[in-house]
Amino acid sequence: MATPVTPGPSALNPVGDLWSGGPQCPPDPPPETKQLPELIRLKRDGGRLSERDIRSFVRAVVDGSAQGAQIGAMLMAIRLQGMDLEETVALTQALANSGQRLEWPEAWHQQLVDKHSTGGVGDKVSLVLAPALAACGCKVPMISGRGLGHTGGTLDKLESIPGFTVIQSPEQMQGLLEKVGCCIVGQSKELVPADGILYEARDVTATVDSLPLITASILSKKVVESLSALVVDVKFGGAAVFPRQAEARELARALVSVGAGLGLRVAAALTAMDHPLGRSVGHTLEVEEALLCMDGAGPPDLRDVVIRLGGALLWLNGLAEAQAEGAARVAAALDDGSARDRFERMLATQGVDPGLARALCSGTPAQRRQLLPRAREQEELLAPTDGTVELVRALPLARVLHELGAGRSRAGEPLRFGVGAELLVGVGQRLRRGSPWLRVHLDAPALSDPQRRALQGALVLSDREPFTAPSPFSELILPPTDAQQ
Ligand code: URA
Repeated sequence: MATPVTPGPSALNPVGDLWSGGPQCPPDPPPETKQLPELIRLKRDGGRLSERDIRSFVRAVVDGSAQGAQIGAMLMAIRLQGMDLEETVALTQALANSGQRLEWPEAWHQQLVDKHSTGGVGDKVSLVLAPALAACGCKVPMISGRGLGHTGGTLDKLESIPGFTVIQSPEQMQGLLEKVGCCIVGQSKELVPADGILYEARDVTATVDSLPLITASILSKKVVESLSALVVDVKFGGAAVFPRQAEARELARALVSVGAGLGLRVAAALTAMDHPLGRSVGHTLEVEEALLCMDGAGPPDLRDVVIRLGGALLWLNGLAEAQAEGAARVAAALDDGSARDRFERMLATQGVDPGLARALCSGTPAQRRQLLPRAREQEELLAPTDGTVELVRALPLARVLHELGAGRSRAGEPLRFGVGAELLVGVGQRLRRGSPWLRVHLDAPALSDPQRRALQGALVLSDREPFTAPSPFSELILPPTDAQQ
């Protein structure tokens, strides 16, 4: 069984060891613990928080002594003033230490891998990649997140499958890794509880787009998983948290560096997020598309991101000689049905009725649709002119779907799982005036005029000849030792 380790004070001290470097001085007398208003003021005015300050803020978040307003104020101060590398490492460590750490059997040490995304629209990669990696012999103890801002969350997508339970104890996670090879779970009172509280607060305080908060949020969940390698999919483009590639690259580098400081081998991929990934956006629609990808079919952009991230991970972890070899193994797991078989077993072990899991995984796309929650209405939008599809802007699409109930405006709000949209055309394809390009699934009787206008504004057409859409995958940033090879 998994041995939950209650962490003591920072097992690693990456701040001192790896970044400050200078000669050792006699220790200062222990400083006084500051009150929360003082900590907030310090950060608000551009000061640095010490490791101790950060630990005491995170402790107050978890033990309930920090009021919601104080949490929001501190998050905003961090969002506006930023954090340096040492503060970010300390925050990551404090979040990770807020709950238990997972420990796995020695024999698994080289097999433990995971993937995380900074959040996109239509991004269902985790749903496919976790079982595909399990089929390639990895153990994937994925602790995932909920929707944040306009971006969708893996946990919410999985919860659209009736019965799926994201809360699993460390012992249940170990059982899942033994039986299935992967699990996708949420943080809980046991696992990174501080991140759960801050994550929800960020979603409703306009503090999602903060480099140190994203870095600490992602890596804290991965540190507790005791992984041997992690790949993070850092999105850039119109619907990404950081639209400019240079900023996304900065985040990618921070993830790789902070990961290295915490003893975690992290590679970060930069992938474009101007256009939704795949053809479906919305919880149940994305589950259906993930299954299609695990049938060895589905949209090429989704498949490409899955196999390249998976290939990088297998290589990084020494399970493949080269990234291309790793990618070929992941592709084979999609094509031979072994990833879908793992997905079915994961669903059944995480609370889905085994008959439903079977029917979902073995059914046709039309049969699958009958098994998952569906929206009451559908409305198709028509192309206003002839043209070649350059882009369907993901951000306005996500905002309209959010308004229709696919996203939350308040923490804990229930979601409308069947709400979503299907893109009926791909980038590079020719569209004729009057032909349908988008099918919206909604519970309201019809779209409002502003919603219809916003969606029509998302379609970008040109006079170009039809073309093959480029892959969203742009670059891969590797940890220092691997990058030198
Ligand atoms: N995923 C997370 O877990 N946290 C973030 O802040 C962004 C993406």
